[in-house]
Amino acid sequence: MGIEKTMEESNMKNARKLSLKKKIRINTKISTNFLREKEWQGKFDEIKIVKHYKKIKSAIKKQKLPDSYFVRKYTFSPYMACEHGCVYCDGRAERYYVEGDYERDIVIRKNLPQILEKEISTLREKGSIFVGSGITDAYQPVEKEENIMKQCAEIIAKSNLSAAVLTKSSIIERDLDIWKAVNEKSGFTLMMSLTFSDDKFRKIFEPNASSVEERIETLKKFKAAGISTGVMAMPFLPFISDSNENILFQKLKDAEIDFIMPGFLTLRPGKQKEFYFNIIKKHFPNLVNKYEILYGNNLLSGSPIFSYRQKMLEKIDKSIISFNFLQQIPHKIYKDRFPIYDEIYILLNHMKNLYKKKNINVINLKNATKKYSEWLITEKTTFNRKRKLTHAFLEDKLIALFENEEFQNILKNEKLYEFLKEVVINRKIFDYRKLKLIY
Ligand code: SF4
Repeated sequence: MGIEKTMEESNMKNARKLSLKKKIRINTKISTNFLREKEWQGKFDEIKIVKHYKKIKSAIKKQKLPDSYFVRKYTFSPYMACEHGCVYCDGRAERYYVEGDYERDIVIRKNLPQILEKEISTLREKGSIFVGSGITDAYQPVEKEENIMKQCAEIIAKSNLSAAVLTKSSIIERDLDIWKAVNEKSGFTLMMSLTFSDDKFRKIFEPNASSVEERIETLKKFKAAGISTGVMAMPFLPFISDSNENILFQKLKDAEIDFIMPGFLTLRPGKQKEFYFNIIKKHFPNLVNKYEILYGNNLLSGSPIFSYRQKMLEKIDKSIISFNFLQQIPHKIYKDRFPIYDEIYILLNHMKNLYKKKNINVINLKNATKKYSEWLITEKTTFNRKRKLTHAFLEDKLIALFENEEFQNILKNEKLYEFLKEVVINRKIFDYRKLKLIY
């Protein structure tokens, strides 16, 4: 969704090898579904997507330690490039090597479901599988014809994995029944990407994504089905959508979402920045100078100047607090979706952020988290060598260390040890609002 890329790094190598013209079967078609107003081109345009079918050899990318931000352990992508065509999408940046026209040349990993099924059957650790990479949207319109995500959802439903999908599309409603089944069995979370409070700017900056109202309706439908929901409110666009958050947040409050994660716009120097600036010049010429000030430093990360970043996040933060939203995926959602040892790793990392936001010194917590991570990495290295073991072995080991009070020697933090014991042994939940353990 234009916000995180780590799991797509290996795609770069593949993308380098791609010569879209020579090596991939090309299927050009005009879809009547894609008749949309491309306002930023100033005309109605019948979008002709070009499908590039690609056979893949592996599907799932694994992480040794879970990602605490997205609360995920596994991930995969059914497509590369994205016909939603968000103007700010950093999938356009050169570092991701997406060839062709970003919103028209769509790479389709047609055999992904077969590979996914095979790989899931060999996974030794449970965990959450996350779909929503930085250079594609799994539920972009082409999914209506290709049904790759539908097949993948069915495969996940047969497994014991939990899942989460991040999208800007209401097409995911088609698979609500399947995701509901996944949720009832092992847990599912819908994460919707949304920062505009209405369609006025959405039409310019996210021309082919679902409308704001459609996305909010989708969130409500998933919530009504008993599924946890959250919003990735990023990127807020400087001087355009960074002052409408209260209207948006009220709508999200009404949709009863479980968490919201905000972020600012990054513009990496090169194609991404040029593309974005062209739209600003066309639609908001009076903002060009202001943007030059924010992004003129051309940082490789694409971040705006520090003072803006700080001010904007503080303002959004205040708003989020006034609406009583959580800014992280809460413990009650991810509990039992991971082996206990990974759950503790995520919890410790979340606690650092939660206490920091309350201006509480987290130095001891940081040190203990470091010690825990070192212990976990060592144990996982051994676990990975012994192929016959399942995650239950490592879970049992952790539980025994707590029962025997031996984990105190590893953490070197008595208070934290007693706290974690309640989570590991008595399976208590940490309430992120009250900062208290609950049942
Ligand atoms: S929806 Fe597609 S175009 Fe928009 S930010 Fe996400 S990946 Fe990029």
